[in-house]
Amino acid sequence: MKILVADRSEESKTTLVSILNNKGHECVIVEDSNEIIGNVYHEAPDIIILDLKLSTPSALSVLQQLKSAPSTRDIPTLLIASTKSKIKLSKGYDYGAYDYLSKPFFEKEVLARLQNIIEIREKMKEFEKLLVRDYLTGLYNRKFFMERFVEDLSWSIMYNEPFSLMMLDIDHFKKINDTYGHGCGDEILKQTANTMLTTLRAQDLLARYGGEEFIILLPNTDIETAAEIGENLRAAMQKHDFRCNQDIKIPVTISIGVTYLTGEEPTSDYIIGQADKALYRAKESGRNRVAVYEEGTDDKN
Ligand code: GH3
Ligand code: MG
Ligand code: MG
Repeated sequence: MKILVADRSEESKTTLVSILNNKGHECVIVEDSNEIIGNVYHEAPDIIILDLKLSTPSALSVLQQLKSAPSTRDIPTLLIASTKSKIKLSKGYDYGAYDYLSKPFFEKEVLARLQNIIEIREKMKEFEKLLVRDYLTGLYNRKFFMERFVEDLSWSIMYNEPFSLMMLDIDHFKKINDTYGHGCGDEILKQTANTMLTTLRAQDLLARYGGEEFIILLPNTDIETAAEIGENLRAAMQKHDFRCNQDIKIPVTISIGVTYLTGEEPTSDYIIGQADKALYRAKESGRNRVAVYEEGTDDKN
């Protein structure tokens, strides 16, 4: 497991980390409480160990922030608390902490408390998979995507970071179902998901938006790069050897609409609407192509 240890004390940096390392866990140490949230996003730890003594911002306010964001709220958090900090500790439980450790660290106790949390974490991961993944393709589902999108959007606006978004739709998919059967259509959807995943970068968030429609969030990506990635996806689909049974090669293409977060403070629906309008134009102008949203032109439709 990857464990983020947020603490400044030597005891945590040496004793606790070596207890965890000896058990085969990977540790990320964060000493500055200002850097905890950023590190949690960046490192995506399985478990967080947070010292209640941290200040500016206080450990409790960091905990509150972690528990209010969809992508971090389910990471189990253990607090490090002294016997004197009972009031703070009970507040920590109110805010969603799972358990606590006290100093000096006693190896058997640390490992026993950790074992409980690991079991919970593993069960949660299985459960999450059922909740956030699309059953057929294994991609993220629309609900998960929308939660993450709304959250990333407010981050991007707050930190002035650009991102792009694209909507993709398989061309004449109904014809594939009609010609080769629904089972073959399902198989093409799975192969489409894999083709796109292998073309995308690790930071891009791909989800199945609906039937034969997909959506991708491209963090920190300008529109030129996004259009290039769209073109790579389009080309990869056209080139891929789609087959349901060995002898028939099925040509599959995709149309793509791309948009970019611009100036003001748009809502998630507004941005998706822009990508959708561009996708509509890609379809209208012949399919198997990428269209970049154009203000004015696309708003007439
Ligand atoms: P266009 O190029 O305009 O997008 O044409 P299209 O045929 O792809 O679009 P249309 O919306 O007419 O048809 C989409 C089809 O996708 C209809 C629906 O039955 C099929 N579909 C949706 N979900 C699934 C699925 O999970 N499996 C299969 N096999 N087919 C699906
Ligand atoms: Mg469609
Ligand atoms: Mg379609």
